Amino acid sequence: MRTLEEARSEMLAVIDPLGTAALPLVDAAGRLLAVDAAAVIDLPRFDNSAMDGYAVQAAEAGTGAKLQCIGEVPAGSEFDGELGDGQCARIFTGSPLPAGANAVVMQEDTRVDGSTVEITDGVKPFEHVRLRGEDVKAGECIGQAGMKLQAGQLQLLGAAGVAEVTVFRRPVIGVLATGDELCEPGTELGAGGIYESNRLALAALIRDAGAEPRVFPLVPDTMEATVDALKGAFAECDAVVTSGGVSVGEHDYVKSAFEQLGGSLEFWRVKIKPGKPFVFGRLGGKPLFGVPGNPVSAMVTFLVLVRPAILQMQGAADLDLPSHPGVLADPFANRGDRRHFMRVHADAAGNVYAAGLQASHAVGPFGKANGLVDVPPETSLAEGAPVKVLRFS
Ligand code: AMP
Ligand code: MG
Repeated sequence: MRTLEEARSEMLAVIDPLGTAALPLVDAAGRLLAVDAAAVIDLPRFDNSAMDGYAVQAAEAGTGAKLQCIGEVPAGSEFDGELGDGQCARIFTGSPLPAGANAVVMQEDTRVDGSTVEITDGVKPFEHVRLRGEDVKAGECIGQAGMKLQAGQLQLLGAAGVAEVTVFRRPVIGVLATGDELCEPGTELGAGGIYESNRLALAALIRDAGAEPRVFPLVPDTMEATVDALKGAFAECDAVVTSGGVSVGEHDYVKSAFEQLGGSLEFWRVKIKPGKPFVFGRLGGKPLFGVPGNPVSAMVTFLVLVRPAILQMQGAADLDLPSHPGVLADPFANRGDRRHFMRVHADAAGNVYAAGLQASHAVGPFGKANGLVDVPPETSLAEGAPVKVLRFS
C-alpha cells in the first residue's frame, strides 16, 4: 500500500496544467496567474502629497514663516508653474507636488489669513511627500506565475496599470456518486435509503480549489450504469471524482467499470485513515479520483490527495492546505497503524478541539470542523501538545 507521499507524488508526476487564457483583470479574481506580470507604471506615479495642506519649500517653511499662497492643486490636476521663494500652494492628498516644492505642511499646522499662510509647525524636506516609485517601480515583477489573484494582488496589478492577465484555464471536474441506497435530497427515503451528500461537499471543495464542479445524476450499483456514467463524465470534463464503489464488496464497480472503459488504474489504496480505498486512474490523459463513499473519507481524501492534483491542473505554485500552529485542547489517540487525519476545530487563539466522533461515517464533526490534524500511527497526543492544523476553512 502506498504512503500518502508516494500516492501524491505519483499523481502529481503525471498531472500537467491545462491551457492558459488572457482575461481582463476585472474577471480574474480567484484565478491563478500563468505568466509573470510586470508593473506598467511607477507607483506612486508622481511625487504627491500625503496630506491636505500646503506645498512648500522646506527651507522657507520654518515655524513662524508667513508664505503667500499662489494657487491650488486639486486631485487629478497639475500645478501650472513653479513655487518661488516665500510662496506656497494649496494642495490635497494625492495631488502632484508643484515644481519647486519639496514638502507639505499639514493644514492643521497653519493659520490662514486671506492668501497669507502662517506656518505654526515647520517641516523638513520631503515631509508628507510620497515619492515617485517608492512603492513599486515600472517593470518590476508584481505577480508570479502560479500565484492566486486575490484582493491584494488585484489591487496591486490594477494600480500598476495592468489591464489584462494570462491565467490558467479552470478545470471542469465531474462529480459522480455511486450507490443504490442514495436518494436525492427532498425525495422520500425508501427502505435502507439515505440522503446523498458527498456530491454537495465535493462540489464545494472543488469550487474552493478554484475549479468548476459538474455534478452528475446518481449512479446505481451496476456495471452498466457505472460504465455509462464514467463515459459521460469523462467526455465532458477534465477530470472526474467518483464517490463510493471502490471497496472490496461485490457491488463496488468503479474500478472494473473504469478498466472496461479503457482507463488504466494507477493505484488503489493509500495508507491513511480515513480513506484507505482511494483510487487513482487515467483515461486518455484525464485523471480519475475515486474517493470512498463514507462521507468523512470522501472529504479527507479529497483534501489531502485530490485538492493538490486539481491545483496542479491550474498551475498553482502552492498545493498544500495552509498549516497553522495550534495547541491541543483535547487529548488525541491513534491506536491504528495508519496515520489518522482527525477532524478538529481550531479557534482564533490556536486552541484545537476534537470536532466530535472520529469515525468515517460521522458527518457531525465535519459540520463543526475547520481543519485536520495528522496524528501518526500508534501515537497518543496529550492535551497541551503542539500540533499543526491543516486548515480547510
Ligand atoms: P461505499 O464506499 O460505496 O462502500 O460506501 C461506504 C459508506 O458510505 C456506505 O455507508 C454508504 O451508504 C455511504 N455513502 C456512499 N456514498 C455516499 C454518498 N454519496 N453520500 C452519503 N453517503 C454515502
Ligand atoms: Mg457503495
